[in-house]
This record gives sequence, structure tokens and C-alpha cells, in this order.
Amino acid sequence: MQKINDIEEMYESLGISKKVLEFGKQAELKLKERFEAIDRTAEYNQLKVIGAMQKNRVSEGCFHYASGYGYDDQGRDTLEKVYADVFHTEATLVRPQIACGTHALALALGANLRPGDELLSPAGKPYDTLEEVIGIRPSAGSLAEYGITYRQVDLKPDGSFDYENIEKAIHEKTKLITIQRSKGYQTRPSFSVAQIGELIAFVKKIKPDVICMVDNCYGEFVETIEPSDVGADMVVGSLIKNPGGGLAPIGGYVAGRTDLIENCGYRLTSPGLGREVGASLGVMQSFYQGLFLAPTVVASALKGAILAANLYESLGFPVVPDGSESRHDIIQAVELGTPEGVIAFCQGIQAAAPVDSYVTPEPWAMPGYDSDVIMAAGAFVQGSSIELSADGPIKPPYAVYFQGGLTWPHAKLGILMSLEHMVRKGLVQI
Ligand SMILES: *Cc1c(COP(=O)(O)O)cnc(C)c1O
Repeated sequence: MQKINDIEEMYESLGISKKVLEFGKQAELKLKERFEAIDRTAEYNQLKVIGAMQKNRVSEGCFHYASGYGYDDQGRDTLEKVYADVFHTEATLVRPQIACGTHALALALGANLRPGDELLSPAGKPYDTLEEVIGIRPSAGSLAEYGITYRQVDLKPDGSFDYENIEKAIHEKTKLITIQRSKGYQTRPSFSVAQIGELIAFVKKIKPDVICMVDNCYGEFVETIEPSDVGADMVVGSLIKNPGGGLAPIGGYVAGRTDLIENCGYRLTSPGLGREVGASLGVMQSFYQGLFLAPTVVASALKGAILAANLYESLGFPVVPDGSESRHDIIQAVELGTPEGVIAFCQGIQAAAPVDSYVTPEPWAMPGYDSDVIMAAGAFVQGSSIELSADGPIKPPYAVYFQGGLTWPHAKLGILMSLEHMVRKGLVQI
């Protein structure tokens, strides 16, 4: 008869050797207190989400299919109130018509800037895809083509804000400042909500009417407060990252001041129509249920990131953030130092996936990148990076960026499998 509770055998049947499992167990043992703190944050955020759903009387009727123009789409309108209560803002726009995070950010910017205005990034270069939105790299339809200028103040070498030069960069045309919470794929640290609050307070002291926007991608529910709790006028993100909880199949959100969100509505649909139209087309249950799950999904992803950091740090690989740093987003970078390392790591993540586990990812010349890139993603939602995923450009310093994990056991399996593949290829010794 088969034993049903021998977890070692179960791991072994999925391809994890005793050696790797034991190594993982040692790393995990040291993380008990940090995992408890993450669970407490998830507990708080879970209550926040449930409270918002109860207050707004979410009901089965909110999940009904709405088509056509979508006037009085109950599910959509109620969800936007739920989001407003979660983010503590006056209004929100949460729509499947927002295609992705970049679209949400382009929408928030385009809706609230006018020709002659200037956009300021006081925290260095924004996310890659925003370069074309802003026109840092010339692009058709960019803000630059509409006469909106851009200024940037780089971070100081230690990753902190350069307040002196930020003050100098603000002038009468400065209309909106954009702050990216997560480091994305840069090497700077991610900002805590408190740090973002300090920056916003500083900027508002110089120019009280400047609109402060935060790119919140990968940051939602990592802490118990959001940038909108510390003065941000608009926070923006993607539903195929944290707040979609792995269930939302598409979508983005903007949460903030009513006048700014109204402008986003007019930009998303049309002047005059604004937020009144845009049918939710049957995705509402996944949006609600995804938001409901998001706090614990984010906790799972964070635990995975911290386990990966500690495991690979103990093997001598540089990791960002390091094994003991506090977390402000769900991204973990591991510098493997060789192309073979990046490939083995990503192939391990893929082999641990529930979907497409039999596929072996290889580096390829992806459009828009200046080197070959390898990507591992066995996801239920295409490209979803709240699901366990990893990618790495095949160029020095040969780092992989690892994120997501809908459940902690899956995140753990993925990391162990990445190590298993590294061990099998002789790239590390444990
Ligand atoms: C993912 C991300 C974006 C862009 O989102 P997409 O959904 O990929 O378009 C923007 N900013 C940050 C910080 C991100 O992590």
C-alpha cells in the first residue's frame, strides 16, 4: 500500500533529491520569524479586503455578465467602490479594458497631463515600457509628441532620493510626479511606503498642487499600508500582478482623487462618456475573488522570494534584496554569474510548474531586448508574473529575476527545483 503522508517521497517523485530537500529545510528553519511577520501582514490585509467587500454589500449579483455599453454595471461599479475602500481613496477605475500595467500608467499620465505640462520622475529612470510612453525613447503617440516635457532626477549612489536636485527640478510647469515603488529590473532598492510618503511630503511642500502618482506594480499588499495612505494622489497597477490574486485574466486599476480618476475615465473611453460605459463582460467574479485571495497570494510570493534569497546567498551568490533585508515588493534577483546558471535556474522553475512543466525553456532573441532572454512561466494566465515565474537576460552579470507563487508550497517547490537543476548540471555543490 502507498504511504500517503511521506512528504520526502512525494518531493522525490517530483524530482527533488533528499540532498536538495535537506538543504532547503535548513534554510527554511531560519525563516520562521520572518514568515510569521508576513502572515500577520496578510492577516491584516485580508481583513481590510473583507471589510471593504462587506461595507459595499458585495453580492452574487455583482458576478453577473454585463454586455453592451455597460450602463449601471453593478459588478463593475461595486468593485470600484471596494477598491476605493481598500486603497482609502475617493475613487478608482478598475477595468478589464485596461490591458496591462503599462496601459494603466499611460492612461493615468495621458489623462492628467496637457500640452505644456512637465512630468517629473524624482526617483530615476522609470520602468522600461514607460520610456516609450513618455517619449524618453522616441515613439509614436508618446507624451512628448503631445508637447509634454519630461525631467528626471536620478537617485543618489546609495539609492536614496536626491532632495536638493528634486527641489531644483520643480518649477511652474511641473504638473505631475511619478514614483515607482518597485525596483522592477533595476538594481536600486525598492522603496517602502514610508519612504514614498516622505518624498511626497517634500514635493508637496514645494508645490502643493503637484499631482503625485505612484507606480504600485508588484507592491500591493506587501505592507499594511499603500502609497495612497501616505499622500499619493493616484496609485496605479496591474491585475495580472498582486491585486488580481492570480485569478484576474486581464486588467488594471487607478485609485485616487475623484477629479483625476474622472479624467482617466474620459481618457479610457471618451470625453463625455467617461466611467459610465465599459461592460465588465463576465470577468467580475475573478476580479473579486482574486482581490480576496491577493493578500495570501502575495504572502506566498514573499516567502518564496525570501527562501530563494537565503538559499542562494548561503551558496555564495549575490542576491538583491539580500536574505535579511525588509521587503517592499515581490521581486528577487539572484546573480548566478554564468549563462549556464541562468538557464538551469529557469529550467528548474519551469519543471516545477503546474502548466507546461514538460517544456524546456531556451534563451531567444526577444523583441525589445539587447541580448537573448530566457523565460520560465508555467502559468494559468499568460504572462502573469504573480504566478511563479523567472526570467534572465543572457548577459553579465547573468542575473535571474524571480517572482510570484500563488501558493507557498509551489513557490518552495520551484526554488528547490531550480537548485536541483543547478546541482545536476554541476553548477553548485551542496
Ligand atoms: C510590470 C510593471 C510595469 C508594467 O506592467 P505590464 O503589465 O507589464 O505592462 C510597470 N511598472 C512596474 C514597476 C512593473 O513591475
